[in-house]
This record gives sequence, C-alpha cells and structure tokens, in this order.
Amino acid sequence: MRKLFFAAALLAGLGACAQKAILVDTHNDVLSSASIGLGLDIGTDLTGKTHSDLARFKKGGVDVQVFSIFCDDRYGTGSAFRQAMREIDSLYAIAGRNPGRMTIVTDVAGIKRAVAAHKLAAMMGVEGGHMIEDRMEYLDSFYARGVRYMTLTWNNSTSWATSAMEETSKAWTVTPYGLTERGKAIVRHMNELGMLVDLSHVGEKTFWDAIHTVSKPVICSHSSVWALCPVFRNLKDDQIRAIGANGGVIQVNFYSGFLDSNYAPRVKAFMARHKGVVDSMNAVHAPMYAVNEYLSKTYPAEADSLRAPLALLIDHIEYIIRLVGVDHVGLGSDFDGIESPPQQLNDVTCYPLVTKELLKRGYKPAEVEKILGGNFIRVLKANEVTRTGGH
Ligand SMILES: [Zn+2]
Repeated sequence: MRKLFFAAALLAGLGACAQKAILVDTHNDVLSSASIGLGLDIGTDLTGKTHSDLARFKKGGVDVQVFSIFCDDRYGTGSAFRQAMREIDSLYAIAGRNPGRMTIVTDVAGIKRAVAAHKLAAMMGVEGGHMIEDRMEYLDSFYARGVRYMTLTWNNSTSWATSAMEETSKAWTVTPYGLTERGKAIVRHMNELGMLVDLSHVGEKTFWDAIHTVSKPVICSHSSVWALCPVFRNLKDDQIRAIGANGGVIQVNFYSGFLDSNYAPRVKAFMARHKGVVDSMNAVHAPMYAVNEYLSKTYPAEADSLRAPLALLIDHIEYIIRLVGVDHVGLGSDFDGIESPPQQLNDVTCYPLVTKELLKRGYKPAEVEKILGGNFIRVLKANEVTRTGGH
C-alpha cells in the first residue's frame, strides 16, 4: 500500500520529466557478498536474504546499477586479480541467464539503449587498486572486460596509494605517502583509457595528490559528509569543494554508521544491553558479524531502532548541494555491503522514498533528476574516450 502511494507521489512529482529521469546507483556489493560469497542467484527472489535481486531493482526503479568487483586485503599478488575476474565472469553469467532483464553496458549510449529496452543497465567498478596487483596491464584487462571505475584503494593501502583507514589509523607507523609517482602514472592511464577515477576510501593525502593529477572529472562512488558524521572516510568540506571544482560527483553512501554520528554509541549500548549473549558467543570465538547477525535476528525491533533516520541521508545530500550546488551529488547506496541502511530504506525497492523526500524539501524535478542519475551520467560521458581506426 505504502509503496503504491510513494510510487504515485514520485510520478506526480516528477511530472513531465518522469520519462527521462534515469536512476543510477554507483555502489552495490551483492556480487561479492551474495553471488560469490553465498552462491545465491540474484535472478531469483532473495527477499529477506539480501538487499538486492533483479526483480527488486526493477521494483525500485533502478535503471543503472554499478556492481562492485571486490575482494578484501586477504587477496594480494597472485590472487586478487583472479578473484576480481571470477566476479566479472559471474556478472556476465547472470546477464547471460537473464537476457530479457539486464544487460552489461560500458557507456552512456549503452545506458540509453538498456533504458529504452526496459532492462537493468549493469556496470562494473573495481573497489580497490590492490586488484591490479601493481600491473598496468591488469588495468587494461579490467577496462577491456567492461569495468568503468576503479576505487584507488579500499581500506587497505597499495604500494602506490594510501587509504583513509590506514592514513588515520593509530597503528600507522609510516608517514602516509599519498599517491606515489607510480600511482600518478596509474591515474593518468585511467584517464587515457576512460576509466573513472574513484576517490571513495582513499586517504586525504591520496585524495589531494589524485585531484591534482587527473585531467577528467572524478567520482566518489560511495562516500558521505564528514561535517555531519566525522568518520574516517567521509569527505571534508574542502574535499567536497575540490570535487565541485573538478566537475565530479559524490555518490552518497547509505550506511547508518557513515550518516549518523550517534549510530556507533547506539550500537555500543545495544551490545551492552545484551552482554550475556555477546560474551557467550565471544567465548566460542564467533566472529563479530555473526554476533551482530544473531542479535539483529533475535531483537529485530531494537536493531531496527539503531538505524539512522531517513532524513539524515537527505541531509547529507542537501549539505553537498548547499556547498557546491546540485550538479555534484548522487546515490551510491552500498547495499549488500552494509548491515544497517537508514530506516525505511530496507532494500533496493526503496529508492522512490529518496525521490519523495527530495521533492518534499522543495527540489524541482529537474534537480531531482540530476541527483538520481543525471550527474553521474554527465561525468561518465566526460570520461569517455572515442577510439577511431582499427581493422
Ligand atoms: Zn566500500
């Protein structure tokens, strides 16, 4: 019922431009967490198990989903690239099994064709420079397979770029080196190829080195605002201004812990209230995520109340707009990579709620259209390289 109302409000609000609004989300982890991680098929109904599946992307009005190609720092030389390729293979396999519902695209023209054919336009972004294993030709391979952004680092640094987590870690014993000469060469090669430079997750030093190296607009595929929630990898005002000046776009992350500065204390209090359960699970060396999952399933109402209010997500979007205007913000949910999205945003069916809230705050349909995807599409276009010649 509620969803129908929101869908109606969305259409009424967007009015004449409803047809050309393209909804883009630039970060979703279902491929690594569910497809590869658990062997689940997003072609089937995974409600209750994941945030995402093909039917729910459709229901949420998602036109373009960038799937994250991700493995963590347990993968390195000899294994990270191979694992990334496995994930790329799996996305092609999913597309092959669902030709009527999705198609892999690599450019704006492809997005438009997919939208016209009412199919999900699936794109790929590699989340972490460690997956090129210090080899430039692996970057070329990713591009050739259709990958269109690379996050320079994940939480782990590479030999050529330091991450936000490591630059801010108390355990860090080396002076953060930012982007080395090799790192700058990698960034320049990405610009030559037409691979978007993604500055989510990178340390501040790397951020500034990269923004001074690029010749094209950058993205932050899933990052929120430091001033509203000062966590290690949120963006400070001067970084947001630099992305505005560069013509780039910040795709806001939906994670409660990145939106709401009271989230961590609430989680701590929740754990303290259930200390008995936590202690007994710790005693058998249950991993932290298993403890979290058990507590969330056992005390669902309490766990639900920990989530950030939906209004806070809109506050982050609005903060960026007030600082640099409406041309530099979009959506990078991080669904299926986060355990706690904001209240009401339960899964990928819930994007109409974001649209509704933006309209409620007085944004015009043309502005909402930019936030929902227009800005990212502009940046993607600006990064495209026209290649001529051949055989
Ligand atoms: Zn991430």
